[in-house]
Amino acid sequence: MKKKLGNLIIIVLVILTIAVWLVFPPARDGVENYERYYVGMMLGSTVIALMSFSLFLSTRPKWAEPYFGGLDKMYMTHRRTSTSAFLLMFVHLLSVPISIMNLHLGNYLAMASFLGIIAIVLPTLAPRIPFLSKLTGSDYEGWKKLHRYIGVFFILGYLHSITVNAPTTKIAINWNQIFVFLGIGSYLYTEVFGRFFKKYVPYTVEAVNHPNNSTTEVVLRAKGQPIKHAHAGQFLFVRFKEKGLDESHPFTISSAPHEDVLRLTIKASGNFTRHLFANLKVGTSAIVEGAYGMFNYKMTGEKQIWVAGGIGVTPFLSFLRDLKTGLTHDVDFYYTVRHPEEAVFKDEIEAAAKQNSRLKARIRFSSTDGSLTVDEIVRNAGGDIREHHVYMCGPLPMVQAFEKKFMEAGVPAGNIHFEEFNFR
Ligand SMILES: Cc1cc2nc3c(=O)[nH]c(=O)nc-3n(C[C@H](O)[C@H](O)[C@H](O)COP(=O)(O)OP(=O)(O)OC[C@H]3O[C@@H](n4cnc5c(N)ncnc54)[C@H](O)[C@@H]3O)c2cc1C
Repeated sequence: MKKKLGNLIIIVLVILTIAVWLVFPPARDGVENYERYYVGMMLGSTVIALMSFSLFLSTRPKWAEPYFGGLDKMYMTHRRTSTSAFLLMFVHLLSVPISIMNLHLGNYLAMASFLGIIAIVLPTLAPRIPFLSKLTGSDYEGWKKLHRYIGVFFILGYLHSITVNAPTTKIAINWNQIFVFLGIGSYLYTEVFGRFFKKYVPYTVEAVNHPNNSTTEVVLRAKGQPIKHAHAGQFLFVRFKEKGLDESHPFTISSAPHEDVLRLTIKASGNFTRHLFANLKVGTSAIVEGAYGMFNYKMTGEKQIWVAGGIGVTPFLSFLRDLKTGLTHDVDFYYTVRHPEEAVFKDEIEAAAKQNSRLKARIRFSSTDGSLTVDEIVRNAGGDIREHHVYMCGPLPMVQAFEKKFMEAGVPAGNIHFEEFNFR
């Protein structure tokens, strides 16, 4: 329940925003097109509230993680509030009456805000819409830089709401101010003040290993006080003081919390990670932010199924490296990769299974053994599948398909836990 509280509060605040407008309608005072203005203002307020939540979630508040189930889940909520605000903005535009002959400051501000938001949101949708992807390019860093201006258009949208000549009420305006403060405050925190409060911790690259021809293991040692690594399975953001690598990217900490270094296991999949594979050198300075995340098997029941797809093995590596006094859960661990050479740390996983009688490790090469299926996992688990907790990390289509199948097989939704490797 605690994990859902964040989303619940957001839903309640959205409902309250609409309720405030319904309970305190603006005075008619002979206003032409009163109903359209009324609905338009209500929707406009809701857009401001939703956008302020998105801006708040972008600040990466570590303290709020327990109320959403981790930072990766907060990004999912961010995606939902932003998409809802974007769609409602169109309905708002269609509902308010606009006279081309009688435009004033409020209308111009609305146009600037609307066009700015569209310019930023379309590339965000691009990875999901192939046509847009071709149009905008798929460079994440370019998108991230553009995305930073969203707060400016939020402020313009707010200025539009107070300068446009539409019927309103003091109570609704005051209610709206809460979200305006939240949104602007969050934006300023992210872009200006955050650096004075957030912990950007200096590290040095102590070792760079290549366990296969597309994976890099980076070993980082803190220059001073290390980050707080509370439990196995967490992730961090890292940037390196090196040309082409000075961008903040999220990676799971594949080492255990008791180790005096941080280990990252990184698959070369795009510009940054390929450049890192080819160029990262021992001795390079790094800046680390974290640790974040609540992917923690110790928090749930004894019977567990772990499923790792490809580089999604990293949180599980951390779980295994954390086993100092033996596993306290009965675990069926499935690690699936296409080809044998991709199964980095296979020997380490098999050794952990030999040492822990409660751990059954099954490594699967889909090119020769065929794809792993949920039916097979359920059959192997035996007993009542509803009692199992499932932990998954891997490519999004695989995780989504498996989640659906596990639920069909009877695993309660609350027993399925997964790590999102995608923030966009
Ligand atoms: C919580 C979490 C844990 C992760 N753990 C690992 C791990 O242990 N090992 C591993 O190999 N990969 C991990 N990833 C994925 C890794 O962050 C991306 O593969 C990497 O950032 C890709 O960058 P690129 O420029 O090489 O690829 P691109 O092709 O540019 O990006 C591929 C995708 O990676 C994501 N991405 C790219 N840049 C960023 C960024 N700056 N911030 C956030 N997301 C970005 C976007 O979804 C993008 O569409 C993790 C991701 C998340 C969110």
